[in-house]
Parts: sequence; C-alpha cells; structure tokens
Amino acid sequence: MEHADVVIVGSGFGGLAAAKQLAKSGINYVLISSTREHLFQPLLYQVATGVLASQEIAPPIASVLRRHKEADVRLGKVVAIDADNAVLTYEHDGAHTQIRYGSLIAATGASQSYFGRDDFADKTFSLKTIDDAKLLRAQIERVFTEAEDADAETRKRLLSFVVVGAGATGVEVAGQLKELAKRHYHQEVSVTLVEGAGEVLPPFGGGLSEYAKASLTSSGVEVLLGTFVTDIEFGKVTVKDKQGIERRIAAETVVWSAGVQAGGFAQILAEATGCETDRAGRLLINPDLTVGGHADIYAIGDMTSLNRYPGQSPVAMQEGRHAADIIRRKKLPGTPFEYWDKGSMAVISRFSAVVKLNEHITFRGVIAWFMWLAVHLLYLVGFRNRFAAVASWLIAFIGTGRPGFDEVDTARDPVRISERDAA
Ligand SMILES: Cc1cc2nc3c(=O)[nH]c(=O)nc-3n(C[C@H](O)[C@H](O)[C@H](O)COP(=O)(O)OP(=O)(O)OC[C@H]3O[C@@H](n4cnc5c(N)ncnc54)[C@H](O)[C@@H]3O)c2cc1C
Repeated sequence: MEHADVVIVGSGFGGLAAAKQLAKSGINYVLISSTREHLFQPLLYQVATGVLASQEIAPPIASVLRRHKEADVRLGKVVAIDADNAVLTYEHDGAHTQIRYGSLIAATGASQSYFGRDDFADKTFSLKTIDDAKLLRAQIERVFTEAEDADAETRKRLLSFVVVGAGATGVEVAGQLKELAKRHYHQEVSVTLVEGAGEVLPPFGGGLSEYAKASLTSSGVEVLLGTFVTDIEFGKVTVKDKQGIERRIAAETVVWSAGVQAGGFAQILAEATGCETDRAGRLLINPDLTVGGHADIYAIGDMTSLNRYPGQSPVAMQEGRHAADIIRRKKLPGTPFEYWDKGSMAVISRFSAVVKLNEHITFRGVIAWFMWLAVHLLYLVGFRNRFAAVASWLIAFIGTGRPGFDEVDTARDPVRISERDAA
C-alpha cells in the first residue's frame, strides 16, 4: 500500500495553510480534496450577486500549489479511516484508493445546518460552494429578467427576497441585493432579513450591530429580529416572533445562511477515534489539535470546536500552521494551540462596513469598508486573482456594472422552487 509522510484532507483555508507551512521544511505531503479548487468563501456572496467571476475566488488548488515540489494534489472524497492502522480510503470516479499516512491533517470544513428541517435545503439557496453561488446568481438573473416584462403582481413576487440569518453572510447578501436592484437593474425589490437573535451580526454586538441594522434599514432592507422561520413553501416563508405572532412573507427567492453543521468526514473521524462532537457535529479536539487518543491525527478549522474559537478562516489557517509546525518539529508535540484574534469585519453595502479589532477598537462606515477591501485583497490567493478582483470591484462599486453576470455559466440551470417541490 502507498505511504505518505503527511496526508492533508481538504483544500480550504485550513488545508492550504498547513500545506504551505509543511513546504517550508520541504516535507512531502499528499493533499486530497473533494473539490478541485481552493475556495475563498468570504467572497461567495459577490459571485452570487455578479460582482466577481467565480474563478477570481476559486483557483484550482493544484495551480495554487504548483511551485511546491513537495505537493501531491489529488481529487477525491475521503470516505473511511482506520485510525489504529493509519490508513485512509478515498473515492474518485467510483474507484477506492487506500493510503497509509505518517500524520494526518483533517480540514474538511462544515456544511449548512437547517436545524432539523432538512427539507428547507431544497426550498432555499445556500452559499457554501462555488456551485451554490453560481446557482443563486442564475436565480437572481432569472428573476430580474423575467420581472421586466411581468405584470405588477408577478413582478412583486419575483422581486421579493428573504434572507435567513443575519450573520456576516446574511447581512452581505441582503445589502448586495438592494444595491444590485438599485444601481444595476434599476428595479424596486423587497428584501427581508430574518434573524432569531435580538440583533444583526450578533458576534459584533452593541454599537456595531446597531449601526449595521440602521444601515440596512436605511437602504430599504426590512430587518426582523427575534424571529424564526417556521415553514417554507413555494413562494412563501412563514416566520414567528418571540411573542408567537406568525407572519407569511411572499418571496420567490429564499437564501439560507443560518448556521453550520459538520458531518461527512467529521462524523467518520469521530466514530473511528471515539472523539466526542458538539451539537453541531464538530469534533471536540484536544488543545494541541489532535483527535481523541491519536497523536498522529490533527483536525482543524470548521469541522472542529476548541475554546469557543469562531468558525472563521483565520482560526482554520492558524490551526493549519500549528499542526504543520508540530509535524515539522518547530513546535513540541502536545503544544497547545492559541488563537491570535486579529478582529472581524463585515460589509453591509458599498462604502459601509463594520470592523471590530477588539472590544475597544472598532470602525464603521467608509473607513471600515476600505479596511475590508484591503484585507480581502491581501488574502485573495494569487496575483492574477487580485488584479482581476480590483478590476471587477472598480466596475461594480465605482461604475454600475456586474462583470460576474457575463461569466459563461457551467452550473445547473436555476431550478424554480415550484419545480423542486414537484420533483
Ligand atoms: C458564505 C461564507 C462567508 C464567510 N465569510 C467569512 C468571513 O468574512 N471571514 C472569515 O474569517 N470567515 C468567513 N467564513 C468562514 C470561513 O470560510 C471558514 O471558517 C473557513 O473556510 C474554514 O476553513 P476549513 O479549512 O476548515 O474548511 P473549508 O474552507 O470549508 O474547506 C473544506 C475543504 O474540505 C473539502 N472536503 C470536505 N469533505 C471532504 C472529504 N470527505 N474528502 C475530501 N475533501 C473534503 C472541501 O472540498 C474543501 O476543500 C465564511 C464562510 C462562508 C460559507
């Protein structure tokens, strides 16, 4: 059986950071991922709303690592692990391959959580993969195009959007939809943002959450706080507030961005190692990022939970580097991971954002928006992507174009919720 010194599973933020760190010591590794690309998830909403083209945020992982002579990149979905014998099984094109590892770094992320209502998945649009973003983009393009020739009642239904979850993604999508309608399509739309908590952007809190809410409201987004979605049917979302008052909102498009759940390889790993998981299925890893009693298995990023660190890209990247540092003997085995929190940011709309560096240092408005721009440019992978993104941002934010809509779409056609229901 084939042997690899290190196997990394996943080509997201955690996997890529670990790979780059290992390469610094010339350590050979096999990177297995179920997707070809390294996806920059924080900008998915810009692909969905036509600001950026998909390749600008999703370069092939093999091309990102092309200068690493240590890298052996493979497309495949890891489906099993024998933790005692250090053997991993992955599947590609129906064929199963086994590989023995010296060390394993698992970074398979998380998927959307529907809080026990998995039927909502078929009735809503999500933003987790590049195909999700393309699907939502095609839906947005369809409703705006069809609305042009529709009668008033149909137009109203077509141009009604409900966004569920007022975390960074929900806020960004809601703000962008309003901006897209106003500056690009020149149409009136209804955008309702539904959030179970008592404020938008709950992790920011206080003045920043209030600013975000005021900013959204002034752009015309209806913000419903302390409100839960209880049912979704074609063209209709039912919500209930904390007083138990129910309301039905007509909407052709529902975007779900409310919570994550780790499943897939996280669950396989939990069963194979006896590692416990939290309610969202995330592995409760050891302080040094190892899993259960296995010193050769590290799990990092969104598939894990440690010290209540947020499910954000800097955590995944720093954990990836920490695991790699132990493997390349720059840190002693057992060294606990400590997260260096450099702050969080979220965009509300053009020239409006919030940035929280810590409890005392916060920014809002235009200055925060430019900080957001600078940071995302810095972290976008590859010079060509940065260059292309700047060009697209100029077109979309200074001009009124949406270059992403020109992309030839290889995703499935948008499926009307009615058709999905019928299927
Ligand atoms: C819409 C959206 C917006 C976000 N915005 C922000 C933001 O503004 N700031 C921020 O810090 N964070 C943001 N995040 C969170 C951030 O993207 C995640 O924290 C980060 O991607 C986690 O990295 P990861 O390596 O754990 O997982 P991911 O980046 O999700 O990567 C998981 C990888 O594992 C692969 N994989 C999964 N299962 C298997 C398997 N069985 N076999 C092989 N490969 C597998 C996948 O193909 C993928 O390559 C956002 C997330 C989303 C979805």
